[in-house]
Amino acid sequence: MPHTYDDQNVFAKILRGEIPNNTVLETEHSLAFHDIEPQAPCHVLVIPKGPYVTYDHFAQEASDAEIADFTRAIGKVCKMAGVEDDGFRLISNAGENGVQEVPHLHVHILGGRRLGRMLQPA
Ligand code: AMP
Repeated sequence: MPHTYDDQNVFAKILRGEIPNNTVLETEHSLAFHDIEPQAPCHVLVIPKGPYVTYDHFAQEASDAEIADFTRAIGKVCKMAGVEDDGFRLISNAGENGVQEVPHLHVHILGGRRLGRMLQPA
């Protein structure tokens, strides 16, 4: 899929401070905040601050510092949210088939309840 970044997406607006968010963690290159429509007792989104559309875009073009920061941020949020022991799920939807709603890379961290099977029928 094309990696053309739309800077009017809602997470870009959050990063510019144009709309509020419920921050869990901020690091040099990443931001984690609570999902506005939580699907589980723990539902946190982790995003890079850079203009990346999807995980593959980020993995191909981000700097090593951004990738390390983002990965560590996910680890810190899992610890802070207390989901390590009981288990959790990371999801990063991409593009049309992935049913991505917001075109700025985000990893969902979901936990706090049994989540069921990974995929539902389309
Ligand atoms: P996805 O379908 O993977 O693109 O998921 C986008 C997620 O962003 C959904 O779970 C939404 O509930 C969430 N979301 C949309 N707008 C906001 C917002 N302003 N603050 C926090 N989460 C949001």
